Amino acid sequence: MTITSFPSSTAAGLFAARASGYKPSPVREVFDISMQPGMISLAGGNPDLSVLQLDALADTAAELVRTQGLDALQYGGGGGTRELQELICAVMAAEGNPALPANVQVTAGSQMALELLVKLFCDPGDVILAEGPTYVGAISVFDGLQADVVHVPMDDDGLIPGELERKISELAAVGKRVKLLYTIPNFHNPSGVTLSAGRRADVVRICREAGLAIIEDNPYGMLSFDGLYLPSLHQLDPENVFYLGSFSKIFSPGVRVGWAVVPDDVRRQLQLASEATTICPSVLSQMLVQEYLSQTDWRQTLASAGDLYRDRCEATMTALADFMPAGTTWTVPGGGFFTWVTLPEGISGEDVMYRAIGHKVVFVPGSAFYSDGAGDNQLRIAFSFETPERLREGVRRLGLATAESIQG
Ligand code: PMP
Repeated sequence: MTITSFPSSTAAGLFAARASGYKPSPVREVFDISMQPGMISLAGGNPDLSVLQLDALADTAAELVRTQGLDALQYGGGGGTRELQELICAVMAAEGNPALPANVQVTAGSQMALELLVKLFCDPGDVILAEGPTYVGAISVFDGLQADVVHVPMDDDGLIPGELERKISELAAVGKRVKLLYTIPNFHNPSGVTLSAGRRADVVRICREAGLAIIEDNPYGMLSFDGLYLPSLHQLDPENVFYLGSFSKIFSPGVRVGWAVVPDDVRRQLQLASEATTICPSVLSQMLVQEYLSQTDWRQTLASAGDLYRDRCEATMTALADFMPAGTTWTVPGGGFFTWVTLPEGISGEDVMYRAIGHKVVFVPGSAFYSDGAGDNQLRIAFSFETPERLREGVRRLGLATAESIQG
């Protein structure tokens, strides 16, 4: 007899309370729609991997297994390979951000580093402050670990320091324990904005004075359109900032290699938590990243990717001006993958999305990026993956869907 499914199980009645914190990601759901034929996707923040030299990478991978396979295919150290930790410090230095190999924990993507840090620092009911809107994957981590998310408003210069102070004192007044600020200072996902240099010092000072640590998530920092980088929060206060980096946007998300840089007295605990989850990061993946960083002109490849994303961003900006109805506004990113669109008052991003799917274009509605139901009249456009021509056509269709929604 072949068993094909278990319609009901005893186990389903045994879920822990935290299990209900894991909800389907709206980005993943929209991803399925984006695979339909003829669909233009402004939804997923996928890097364009066409800049990679696949033949050369295939040779490197084959050579790696042939000559170093017994190490590459074996278990490795729990913190990551020493060589990759050193190369990560060189990558960070290229962005003007000093770090020491001993402070680097390699993880399976920065998503894992975020999960581990929240696990280590937050008990159920502890508060994490995060920009409103914020990264959906971070909301999933916070919900799954039963932390309460409180959003801090942002504007075109990023998180607003005065609002951060206000939230901290409001929460203190009702006896809430704020543990962490989670922030994405560069080319924010989903809003595309960058925290201004002046505000960085304020944010770091406010958090230090209030006794909360900062998680600085920086997967897009190197994808600056003008090649300029602002000082990281980690650089301003290395003892109070946990820095997250990733190779997903500057090389490949498929290798699943990211990292955290944490102060000395957090480093050991982070590695123990990581070992409990995965024993060690994939040695094969780490070695492939090492080869990519040490044997190829990765900065040139990154510059080509940056040119591609800048052209796509410009095409999106022009198309938004040409096709969106009056009363629509959007952010002007200086790098990264996203722009954040605010629809005319009273128009719902979800309503526009259902109409847009009919016109064969898909995006993620704004409410997905808040944990408190806000963002209904906003939406995120990812310009990283489609060509400038298809982005223009996608925005034209979005304009049609919005106009239909206005007419009711
Ligand atoms: N943080 C942000 C802001 C992201 O946009 C992403 C990926 N979309 C991640 C973290 C997770 O990246 P990784 O692939 O390194 O796990």
